[in-house]
Amino acid sequence: MIHLPPAALVLLIGASGSGKSTFASRHFDHDAVVSSDRLRGLVAGDESDQRATDAAFARLREWLDARLTAGGLAVVDATNVDWMQRGELIALSHKHGRPAIAIVFNLPLEVCLARNATRSRTVHASVIRRQVAQVTRDIDRLDLEGFAAVHVLGSVADVDAVSLEIEKGPVTGPSRRSVS
Ligand code: ATP
Ligand code: MG
Repeated sequence: MIHLPPAALVLLIGASGSGKSTFASRHFDHDAVVSSDRLRGLVAGDESDQRATDAAFARLREWLDARLTAGGLAVVDATNVDWMQRGELIALSHKHGRPAIAIVFNLPLEVCLARNATRSRTVHASVIRRQVAQVTRDIDRLDLEGFAAVHVLGSVADVDAVSLEIEKGPVTGPSRRSVS
């Protein structure tokens, strides 16, 4: 059972093909999810173009800012394997006074590669290999990044067994200091 506090920021973390989008569509309302696929649609260009990547990340921040201001649960369905980008997103959630939760898809490389091979838009195997290595490298340090909770799913069975409890409740904004 994964418990999510009200209006949290949820980062799905995992290599391409690890099943993040499938998980997101199974567990979350469409409106709560921003996916890298959606963002790619918003900014023309391919992923290998650094300017397009930067533009997509800027759009992601804008979307999150709006979503967290509106008081909704926000789910980022992207690989989220870059610790600096994770840090920026966690800082954004804290600016809004919201907890950040990590759900990690720590699946074997072979699973990601096999799934990737069956898709219409395939990612180069070397990219997936690098992403899996990044997840493996960072997994024990995620606790230190400022997440309120880190949930690691270590197998396909773990992923398929997840039940999510999304807490509804009063959303508290960022704590305000009184100005005298
Ligand atoms: P990307 O980062 O490239 O968007 P992703 O992590 O979102 O990848 P998905 O698109 O969810 O990955 O899944 C990749 C493939 O694996 C899809 O074809 C999907 O049907 C299959 N798949 C995902 N999750 C499962 C699962 N739990 N059981 C069986 N097949 C799955
Ligand atoms: Mg996806």
